[in-house]
Formats: sequence, structure tokens, C-alpha cells
Amino acid sequence: MEIRKGIAVSPGIAIARPMVIDSKDYRIPRRSILPSQRAEEVKRVRKAFAGAIAELTALEAAQGIEEGKIKDIFAVHLRFLRDKSLRKRITDFVQGEWTTAEYAVSATLREIASHFAGKDDPYIRERATDFYDMEKRLLTQLLGKVREDVEHLTKEVVIVAHDLTPTQTAGFNKTFVKGIATEAGGRTSHTAIVARSLGIPAVVALEEIAASITTESTVIIDGNRGVVVIDPDEETINEYQRYVSELSQFEHRLYKIKDEPAVTRDGITVSLLGNIEFQDEAELVKESGGEGIGLYRTEFLYLYGDSEPTEQDHYEAYAHAVRTFETKPVVIRTMDLGADKYPHSRPHAVESNPVLGLRSIRFCLQNLTMFKNQLHAILRASALGDIQIMFPLISNLQELRQAKMVLRDVMEDLDEYGVPYNPDVPVGIMIETPSAALTASLLAADCDFFSIGTNDLVQYTLAVDRANEHVSTLYSAADPAVLSLLRNVIHDANKAKIGLSICGEVASDPEFIMLLLGMGVRTLSLAPPMIPEIKQIVRSVTLRECNHLARKVATMDSQRQIKNYLRDAAIKILPEAF
Ligand code: PEP
Ligand code: MG
Repeated sequence: MEIRKGIAVSPGIAIARPMVIDSKDYRIPRRSILPSQRAEEVKRVRKAFAGAIAELTALEAAQGIEEGKIKDIFAVHLRFLRDKSLRKRITDFVQGEWTTAEYAVSATLREIASHFAGKDDPYIRERATDFYDMEKRLLTQLLGKVREDVEHLTKEVVIVAHDLTPTQTAGFNKTFVKGIATEAGGRTSHTAIVARSLGIPAVVALEEIAASITTESTVIIDGNRGVVVIDPDEETINEYQRYVSELSQFEHRLYKIKDEPAVTRDGITVSLLGNIEFQDEAELVKESGGEGIGLYRTEFLYLYGDSEPTEQDHYEAYAHAVRTFETKPVVIRTMDLGADKYPHSRPHAVESNPVLGLRSIRFCLQNLTMFKNQLHAILRASALGDIQIMFPLISNLQELRQAKMVLRDVMEDLDEYGVPYNPDVPVGIMIETPSAALTASLLAADCDFFSIGTNDLVQYTLAVDRANEHVSTLYSAADPAVLSLLRNVIHDANKAKIGLSICGEVASDPEFIMLLLGMGVRTLSLAPPMIPEIKQIVRSVTLRECNHLARKVATMDSQRQIKNYLRDAAIKILPEAF
């Protein structure tokens, strides 16, 4: 049994066999074996070679490949794989160095590849790629995983990977994918956000976990405590089974209050809205007791398929959301592409700092046809209910004015063709950069509402990549710098009498709810599965105690002190959530 600690990003427990995907960039760590295990590892090497040869031969036959480059590549790979001296070099490595088959394959083939890569002759240099390819093929055999299997699952698994894109995660079939464990990522990475929305337990930032797992392992993913257990003993499995049943009783209790109002014990009403990425999540928000949509991440419409969504695709998605909520608000964020979200259909320039680059509203303002297409659809849908438009990553007033000018252009087009829309559609912005937070009073004069995107705001304020596991301990919304910006934005929004909500992940974090209420926030938008739990917290506190807590936090000078204080207070309110 091996216990690994990572970062809990999506609650719940999963116990299943693992499926490791995307082994291509694994750095296989050196793992020693006992002398008595060498024979078994040598057998695994031989089996991997046999499997790789069979796979390549079948591939060649199945695709009916004609003479040409691909056939040549297959032939070269097959020749090397059948070459006994290569196999012997690897099995000698296992015997002499006492390492796992995976490490011996990786170390040997990488050594050969780098030898070829250093040659002057371009033909010989190209051979390096063949060896990297063969390494990947053999590792796939050893680690027993093929990506295609994810699409054709027939039994429950937990997915283990170095990293996953938000699109990959969103494509998982929830019936079979019961949990996720990745080596990369942070609490607010988009992959984590998607896992949370889908309700799949997930733990990230697990150093080199993929190489520690074999297909025969059993894996427990504990998305509440951020722990992964590999090959648990019987006692641990029993303990987790008890824990799962306690959690399900807790969830059952929470769902009973889902249609009750989110009102504090001293009568302050809080609006709880849902964050969604996909059309069918609108129902999920409703079923979880959400009163509308506070953040529709519409860029997910672009992350599938080989072509961009048409104006009609956009319209249907938004019309569906607004019909689900009738007169309740549906805040549509215009596409937030770039950084870690790129459409398949559009080649993009490689940027050295994509998070600081052409992303979000900046991308829209440079791709006006695409932007106007979306605005056209949002405006059309605005005739159906309470649609509100939100621009992401506004970092100065000029950007907001430009975006609004484009919106006015689109309104004029609709006027010209007599297409109905709501001319008074509320227009708001996300506050996600320190520059926006510091100039909130200027921005407030030009828009109808703010929604604070703490995921990016923390990243930009603290200069910590939200998806980088190596700096995840530095990433915290409890940092006094972040809290000071939040206070500023809340103050300026109230002074200008415009709407204010929080839609970053802090809104679904039980530890932050009392603080946010005490700071004056009355609208939270969060992942649908978390709504009942957050409602329970709201219903268990008084504004008086929240105000007291917020005042106390304002006197504290360190992230750690604040975090501990918030945690202790939240545990007293809802111990089951921890
Ligand atoms: C945020 O940055 O807080 C936010 C809600 O937007 P996203 O997570 O999609 O970047
Ligand atoms: Mg953001």
C-alpha cells in the first residue's frame, strides 16, 4: 500500500482499477527492485516487445498501408523491435541495475535516441524520433494503457495521467470514469474546474504517480482530503467504504434543503447561482437549488469538433439556458479563449507567456468577426429572458469601452434587420486582474455589474500560475494582498450601486463563505454540485458572526494565519464538509 498526498480539487471518493493515459511525456523515475524480482521484470520486458510487435503488425495490416513513408517507418520500428540485441540491452539493464522494466526501457531508448540526435547527418538525426516513438510504444505496453480505451470503457476506472486538458476531462463518460488523479495542475486549473462540475472526485499535483501504478493496482481517490492510495490493504478499503456511506448520508441531508432559501440565521438573503461550461449543466444547477447562472463559460463551445460553432449553435446553447431559468438571470461570459483553452479548429501562435498573452477579451478584440458572431447570438437570446453579458479579463477602461462599442455595432446590425433583442441587456465585467481591481471605481461607472474571478485574480496578484503544481502552495485567495483587492472592489461596486458577485472557486470553498459574507458579498456563483453544501453554510451562520470574522481577518498579516482561522471557523459550522 502506498499513500500519496496531492491537492484535493473535486470532492468525493472513488475506488477502482486505474487507467493510465498519455504516457508520452512521462519521465519514468528510477525505481529499484529486489534481486528476486529481476526475473519477473525481464519477463515483462519480453512481453512488452512481443505486444509492441503484434500491435504494429496488426496496425499495418488493418490500415492496409500502401508503400510509402508510413510503411517505411513501421518497417524500421519492427526491425528494431525484432532485433534481439536491443531487447538484450534492456534486459541486461534490468539484471545489472536492478530497476523496473519501465525504467530500463526508458533509460536505454532515451540514451540511444540522444546519441542519434547529436549527429550531423540529418538522416541519422531523424532516427532519434524512431527511438522516442518506440519508447512510447513499449511504455504503453508496460503501463497497459491506450487513450482510445477511454472512449470505449465498459467498466469503472479511475483515470491517472500526467496532465489532462479541460476538453479531455469534459469528454469522460461519468458512468465509468469514477475518479481522476494527475501529476500536474492546481485547484483552479480548468481541468479541476471541469472535474468539479462533472462531480468526478479528483486529486492533482501528485508527483510521478503514473509510473507507480500498474493495471493490476487498485486505487482510491480521496477528493476530500487530497489523498490517493495505491493498492490499499483490506482495512483501508473497509474504512473508505464506511466513509463513502457517511458522505452519501451527508449529501442526502444536504439535498433535502436544496429548495429552501439561502438565508442566514439573522435573515440576510444570499443568491446562489451556478457556474456552467456545458448546455446540459443548466438543469444540474436547477436541480441543485441554484437560482440562475452566474457564469456561463462559453469558450467550451469552441473546444470540441473540427469547426467553430455557428451563430445558431451559440443561440441554441444560450436559449436553452434561459428557457431553463425562465425569468431568472443567466450571465453569459463572452468567450475566454487562450491561455489553456484553444479551439481545435483554429491554429494559434505559440506564445512564451500565454497567460499574459493574447487571451480572453484581448483575443476577441483582435478577432472581431468571431466576437460579433457570438454577441449576435447572445443578443438574440436576450429577447427570451434575463440574459446578461459579461466580458472577461477586462484590464482597463479602454478595453471595456471597445468591447461595448462592438456590442453597439452588433445591436445596430440587429436593428437594421428588425431582429428582436433586449436593448437594455445588462453588461458587466469580470474583475480578474489587479489593474481592474485597483481601478474598479472607474470601471464601475461604465458597466452594470462586476463578477470577481478570483481564480485569475489570485494568479495575477501573486504572480503564481494557477495550474502549476510546483508553486501551488503559494497560490492562495487568503493572501492579504488578494483580500485587500477584494475589499476595494466590493467597496467600489457598492458605492456605484452596481451588482457584485464572486464566481471564482472561493465561492464554492466552505472555508471562505463566512469571510465573503462578512466582506459584503451577497451573490455567489459556483459549481452546481457544491450549491447544497454552501447553502447549508449560509443557513447556519449569522451575518453578525461573519462581520466579526471579516474584521478579525483584516487585522491578520499572513496567508497561513488567515487560512487557519477561516478553516477553524468553518469546521465549527459544518464539520461534515471537512
Ligand atoms: C476566474 O478566473 O475566477 C474565473 C471564474 O474564470 P475562469 O476560471 O474560467 O478563468
Ligand atoms: Mg478567469
